[in-house]
Amino acid sequence: MRALQLTDPGVVEIRQVPIPSVGPTEVLIKVGAAGICHSDLHLLHFPVKMREEPLTLGHEIAGTVAAVGSQVAGIADGDRGVVYLCWSCGVCRECVSGNENVCEAAGRTAMPPCPGLGPDGGMADYVVVPARAFVPIGDLDVTQAAPIADAGLTSMHAIAGVREHLRPGGTVVVIGVGGLGHVAVQILKAISPVRVVAVDVGAGQLQLAADCGADAALESGPDTAAEILAMTGGRGADVVLDFVGVDATAQMSVAAVAPNGAYRMIGLGGGTPGVTAEPAGGPGWPWGASVRKSYGGTRSDLIDVIELAKAGKVTVATEEFPLREARAALDHLEAGKIRGRAVLVP
Ligand code: NAD
Ligand code: ZN
Ligand code: ZN
Repeated sequence: MRALQLTDPGVVEIRQVPIPSVGPTEVLIKVGAAGICHSDLHLLHFPVKMREEPLTLGHEIAGTVAAVGSQVAGIADGDRGVVYLCWSCGVCRECVSGNENVCEAAGRTAMPPCPGLGPDGGMADYVVVPARAFVPIGDLDVTQAAPIADAGLTSMHAIAGVREHLRPGGTVVVIGVGGLGHVAVQILKAISPVRVVAVDVGAGQLQLAADCGADAALESGPDTAAEILAMTGGRGADVVLDFVGVDATAQMSVAAVAPNGAYRMIGLGGGTPGVTAEPAGGPGWPWGASVRKSYGGTRSDLIDVIELAKAGKVTVATEEFPLREARAALDHLEAGKIRGRAVLVP
């Protein structure tokens, strides 16, 4: 089969590799679509090899079951689904509490094994996954479903964690209206009464935000936090979801969040927010606000966002590329030219 593999830092190639064999508790999936996440760019630019042997990329996977391990029950050939990307242990206290995204087996700062980031991923004709990671999608189109596995999941999780802040008359700022952000705007509009203010550097992305139901769209810059304060009576936004995570957006988030508000870091741009323990009376961090670095999501979050997609309340804007054009798709994403999510179709 063909697989898009990271062979050296910065180098991806389509290589011919054997179709993986299926262990007793695994399923083989014939990939229908695999989304390209900005994290794939972070991986591509990672200065050292992720692992010694070439790594097949792709952690947003949808497809059809092609073979089932001998001990797997309840999944049959031909079933359609997505791959839940937290391959957690399933038995630690966090996992049994439903917090599989922070599985204890992963350690303090790592994440549970994730296809395309350690084990081989789904930018290939086939991928083998733990049967537990297979989540059915019903009739949902596979190009829609693939981005739901991460762009949907991660956005849903960040929003689920701020539910108590989503009140009528409240304001949520979404910074970065790319693959994740444009889904986040739709989830917010689908499940809550808040005003959504989208922020991006690109005119096309700001238009996409409006198309997704955002109530306002602001060009990202040094004055954006002041504009958000002006829109909220000087108080700030109840929630700021930062899907970029560079210094500029981290500092914007700190300057724009309301007292008792919630700032969530989802983007992994390495930015430093500068949350300080200064006394009141100056710029900086308001009383009572919280910050959380949000990773992936729970299986329950994934099911929630699949249901929103099935109900037509979340529609991913996709740009399809054949697998052989993966490099061009990655370059388009890097150049900020993708509207929504780029999806590879084998
Ligand atoms: P994307 O490239 O599709 O979207 C990023 C968006 O941010 C683009 O629309 C871009 O124009 C915009 N942007 C860039 N600089 C900006 C700025 N200064 N101000 C405002 N907007 C700006 O990326 P994506 O796939 O949506 O991923 C977003 C981030 O989230 C990446 O860093 C990715 O690695 C990370 N991510 C994190 C998790 C997690 O679990 N925490 C999961 C998936 C992705
Ligand atoms: Zn991702
Ligand atoms: Zn666990």
